[in-house]
Amino acid sequence: TDTVHADRVSALLAGVPTGLWIDGASRPSEAGAQFDVRDPATGEVLTTVADATVADATAALDSASAVGKAWATTAPRERSLILRRAWELVVERTEDFALLMTIEMGKTLAESRGEVAYGAEFLRWFSEEAVRIGGRTATAPSGNGRILVTKEPVGPCLAITPWNFPLAMGTRKIGPALAAGCTMIVKPAEDTPLTMLLLAQVFADAGLPAGVLSVLPTMSAPTVVASLMTDSRLRKVSFTGSTGVGKKLIEQSADQVLRTSMELGGNAPFIVFDDADIDAAVDGAMAAKMRNGGEACTAANRILVHNPVRERFTAALSARIAAGVVGPGYADGTTLGPLINARQRDSVASLVGEAVDAGARVHTGGAPVDGPGYFYAPTVIDDVPAGARILTEEIFGPVAVITGFDTEDEAIERANDTEYGLAAYFYTTSLDRALRVSSALESGMVGVNRGVISDPAAPFGGVKQSGLGSEGGSEGIEEYLNTKYIALTP
Ligand code: ADP
Repeated sequence: TDTVHADRVSALLAGVPTGLWIDGASRPSEAGAQFDVRDPATGEVLTTVADATVADATAALDSASAVGKAWATTAPRERSLILRRAWELVVERTEDFALLMTIEMGKTLAESRGEVAYGAEFLRWFSEEAVRIGGRTATAPSGNGRILVTKEPVGPCLAITPWNFPLAMGTRKIGPALAAGCTMIVKPAEDTPLTMLLLAQVFADAGLPAGVLSVLPTMSAPTVVASLMTDSRLRKVSFTGSTGVGKKLIEQSADQVLRTSMELGGNAPFIVFDDADIDAAVDGAMAAKMRNGGEACTAANRILVHNPVRERFTAALSARIAAGVVGPGYADGTTLGPLINARQRDSVASLVGEAVDAGARVHTGGAPVDGPGYFYAPTVIDDVPAGARILTEEIFGPVAVITGFDTEDEAIERANDTEYGLAAYFYTTSLDRALRVSSALESGMVGVNRGVISDPAAPFGGVKQSGLGSEGGSEGIEEYLNTKYIALTP
């Protein structure tokens, strides 16, 4: 089966463009440089891709601006149909996209298939939104004329995406941008450029005009991105990634007063009250913690459990997590793949190590897994002392951190005691409590009695240092539209 897998991978890679995607075609970098893409399950090189320079970025923006007006004035129905065809093609090629994400990012094939469905859905959803871009009219209160409000595409956009969801973090930005009539340059994460390059090819197959979408893998993100952001033709930057990089990009966006959308880090609380359905809460915690190997900004970072049910909950969750099967995402039976790279694995190991040194108790796991690849054992710890770094920083790995609480007020206070505010989850069977706690949580998204909240039809976004703006839903397209007011007489 190793050779079956190797054959399948080489057949797949033969059909993935590895050049820069500029002006509707794959081409080498202007400097001719390339970089390696590795399989995190083995550390081995899968292939090499072109490494974009500042000159390549300028070429992509030349092409995006050249077609900008034509794309902005293309009939919404036509833009909609191209997005719809791209959705169909991605779904048709589910197995290709799934295997590609599994080999470049590490998640299990089952999770990759789930991401294909989720990521593609942004294209279908925004194909439906493309033809529903509205505006409004009103009579001026003075009676002296009319107020006409229209929506216009913001213009050429830059998307900078992370490696944890190589497809969905792209389509969540590309879908609304294209629906709104914007052109877009995507700078995918260094670790996972292949999925976006295949998507660019699929968009071309779906009939997207050259220049509307470019993809620029690069090992020089800071300089390539800075050059684009100081070019007066760029009008917007949309970023998903760490809060630190997001802050830098917000600063840089001042130069050209760019519109910004920022999906940054999280430190999600997952609260289990004593009136919860505990079995359901364990299922929810498994999903909120272990989905994507814990490498999600919405991942449950702190599990807060009402003390009367804490022992029962902890035992049940530990048993479930201990049963995880660690291995390559493409191997049969695997439930937990590798982390993305050695740096990420070492970061998880040091967060857990510090907590344990400070007195935390390990229920299962607690160490990296030997051998090639960047594996970390599925882990549960509790009795973590207040102030431990693992409670304040994003873990981004398969580590469940449990702490107890006594009262609802204490749970809310601790849940909100973070500079982040992306997702929060809680379990209760009381309607009063559900409404009270939902509004008390300082968070852009709240899951009530569920551990997965992402939905292309709902607005995804954070408050506080978790970000600015929303992606998905009917809100998502607004990020790519400017409001114009036209005063009419009479
Ligand atoms: P992570 O810690 O998850 O790797 P990052 O925020 O470092 O998250 O990376 C998210 C994306 O931001 C990646 O595409 C990365 O290349 C890009 N990036 C990182 N640093 C910069 C920077 N200084 N300017 C522009 N993009 C950056």
